[in-house]
Amino acid sequence: MNSTSMTVPVPDIVDRQFKKPLFCGPGPCDVWPSVAEALTGPVLSPMCDELFNVFDDVRAGIQYLFQTQSKLVLAMSGSGHAGMEAVISNLVGPKETILIATRGIWDERAYNISKRYGIKPIVYRIPFNRSFTLAELETQLKTYKPTALFITHGDSSSGTVQKIEGLGEICHRYGTLLLVDTVVSLGATPFFMDAWGVDGVYTSTQKALSGPAGISPVAFSARAEEKINNRKHEPPFYFDIKLLAKQWNCYGNTKAYHHTMSSPLLWALRCCLRQICQETLEKSWERHARVTEYFHKRLQQLPQGHAPTPTIDKWTGLSNEGTQPHISKVQMVTL
Ligand code: PMP
Repeated sequence: MNSTSMTVPVPDIVDRQFKKPLFCGPGPCDVWPSVAEALTGPVLSPMCDELFNVFDDVRAGIQYLFQTQSKLVLAMSGSGHAGMEAVISNLVGPKETILIATRGIWDERAYNISKRYGIKPIVYRIPFNRSFTLAELETQLKTYKPTALFITHGDSSSGTVQKIEGLGEICHRYGTLLLVDTVVSLGATPFFMDAWGVDGVYTSTQKALSGPAGISPVAFSARAEEKINNRKHEPPFYFDIKLLAKQWNCYGNTKAYHHTMSSPLLWALRCCLRQICQETLEKSWERHARVTEYFHKRLQQLPQGHAPTPTIDKWTGLSNEGTQPHISKVQMVTL
């Protein structure tokens, strides 16, 4: 008999009737019915053959999704933030510089994360109702010649899409790696990692892929790979791409244990990727463009009274003045 007495009584965890919410913003969205089913797949042990087959399938799907031939592609255990931390902490070391092109809250997150790793962030901020021109970015790159440029492709906090095409070439001219957040844009709007010269990129499953959050595809270019292999700093163990590449058998010669991955989430991601491969990226982009057009049309039809009074965004400290009133109402409520 244990002599220590219980100090926490048994809690009453009642049987609740959860109501499925209606998702209308760029936050999580409903999962495909096939993905809901895939979530009930069998638990896989960390070293079994089936797991490595799933890794191979998932990696092939991620290569298609990012449009990259790179072998260094895998999925992080964690939501989009895990991808953000992995890309930044593996490619930029303490005291190195990262130029953060800021037009919404995700760039602010990249700033905070970078500071925690002892990286020197340089913020280049524009109003959150527009995106950057490549010329503006080049001026900053020329001035600071940073180790990396961080930029968000689709910004869910401002509703803007950033042109990335051509940016890789500009970054590389100044010896800078191009890091891109595609959490909300991948699968919804065209993205070509290799053709656009992107070096480090991550996305998530709960947006345009219609899956559950918690497992995040990442990909690294040959330039990024070289940096990872020659870097002097150690990123966090859990996010170390060198170790994770061994677990994911990225080069076809290692099947290693790093951590136990969530089997339901792996099955779900595999299913999301199958869905998009069956539909094709082109058709998925068209579908999202059609929905966006309809959404914008209906926003224009909102009565004037729906326009918000000017407010200061609590994360960015930026005013929404000057933004389209019918759009800023949505910007304020959708994260
Ligand atoms: N980047 C963007 C553009 C996002 O929209 C989000 C989530 N809304 C994130 C990063 C963070 O992703 P997560 O919440 O999955 O960690």
